[in-house]
Amino acid sequence: MAFSGFRVVKEALTGHKGWGPLWRNPEPQAQYDFIIIGGGGHGLATAYHLAKTYGKSRIAVLEKGWLGSGNIGRNTTIIRSNYLLPGNQPFYEFSMKLWENQEQDLNFNSMVSQRTIINLFHSDGQRDAYRRRGNAMHLSGAGGTLLSQHELREIAPFLNYDNARFPIKGGLRQERAGTARHDGVAWGYARAADRLGVDLIQNCEVTGFRIQAGKLQGVETTRGYIGAKKVGVAVAGSSSRVMAQAGIRLPIESHVLQAFVSEGLKPIIPGVITFGAGHFYVSQSDKGGLVFGGDIDGYNTYAQRGNLPVIEDVLEGGMALMPMLGRARLLRSWGGIMDMSMDGSPIIDRTEIEGLYLNAGWCYGGFKATPASGYTFAHLLATDTPHDTATAYRLDRFARGYVIDEKGVGAQPNLH
Ligand SMILES: Cc1cc2nc3c(=O)[nH]c(=O)nc-3n(C[C@H](O)[C@H](O)[C@H](O)COP(=O)(O)OP(=O)(O)OC[C@H]3O[C@@H](n4cnc5c(N)ncnc54)[C@H](O)[C@@H]3O)c2cc1C
Repeated sequence: MAFSGFRVVKEALTGHKGWGPLWRNPEPQAQYDFIIIGGGGHGLATAYHLAKTYGKSRIAVLEKGWLGSGNIGRNTTIIRSNYLLPGNQPFYEFSMKLWENQEQDLNFNSMVSQRTIINLFHSDGQRDAYRRRGNAMHLSGAGGTLLSQHELREIAPFLNYDNARFPIKGGLRQERAGTARHDGVAWGYARAADRLGVDLIQNCEVTGFRIQAGKLQGVETTRGYIGAKKVGVAVAGSSSRVMAQAGIRLPIESHVLQAFVSEGLKPIIPGVITFGAGHFYVSQSDKGGLVFGGDIDGYNTYAQRGNLPVIEDVLEGGMALMPMLGRARLLRSWGGIMDMSMDGSPIIDRTEIEGLYLNAGWCYGGFKATPASGYTFAHLLATDTPHDTATAYRLDRFARGYVIDEKGVGAQPNLH
């Protein structure tokens, strides 16, 4: 099924009866060359790039629920490449470049909107740190501008600049950052992968691995055994549980993160704004709802729902930043399970089991990484060598002392 302006008009005039499913619903085959576990953004993007970029075939994505039921459809949709450390910045900038061509590549409207991000700073020390981060961004071509308070007031007059505790002194802006429609991203990759012959198998939970003499043979699933030459695990918040089935213990904890949407309002928020003195980030959807979030709930859980204390904490952060928020009503909130790594950075690597590969540890920054994560994981699966932008994301870096601690808070997953 092709999308076009003509088709939209035709369907509008004929009761929208002509739209077909976006992908097939195949039965699992007995054996594949590549199995990707997890039909979230990263799993689907990996399957797509394996087929499209690396010309591989006989690929399946196994998803325990429905495609997009995990974090890919639960995040606050922010995309950016404003990182500091050399292990991270080139990777996220690679992702941003892929976002910039993603809709054309997939021929799917995932509403990629480069509406800018501004990270606020509240002290001279924080300004200096942001200046340093901006310089690192320029080195990888990500761009970025340090805004004075005066310049910021022109863009966002509604912020609480003179808050006695958290005065706003300026911000670091990345013009190319923004938002994308999260579930549209999953659907776009799914449709494009399906068209390249990838089998997308839903309601198929992986329950175990068949391993002989250190070599992977295939996976046990709720729909029977499926053989595979190579298996890539991309299950985000379920990483520890799935890898435990292969006897591998990960440096990852699972935590819940909540997201919030207000009632629809007239356009007020220019792009994405993040609070630098607390954890609060906000953007405005095309429908007018303020989309925002803050900290993880702070306890280990596999439940996809959070609790009231964090809702209160997030809203307090929002009120400190923009008091007018108190006039809006909260419409919806939900939660997703975060795979919090010990240094806040991801893992894209082989494992000690031949044929088993891992993509995990995305914390709450994995949506923006979706295109590059898929590309570089496919590169690793296809070539057995890490992609140039993902060489630092080794699983053994925690044992070897090469952590990528972007935030500088140490081995504290609840603080990253
Ligand atoms: C509230 C919230 C806000 C966020 N905001 C942002 C943001 O603004 N910007 C940003 O960059 N990131 C954000 N993130 C993080 C981002 O959404 C995740 O890091 C990213 O989506 C994780 O990768 P994924 O899409 O592949 O995960 P998922 O969509 O969770 O995919 C994993 C899939 O694996 C499946 N699975 C699990 N176990 C099995 C099994 N045994 N067998 C088969 N399938 C299995 C699950 O059902 C799931 O569909 C946010 C996350 C949340 C929850």
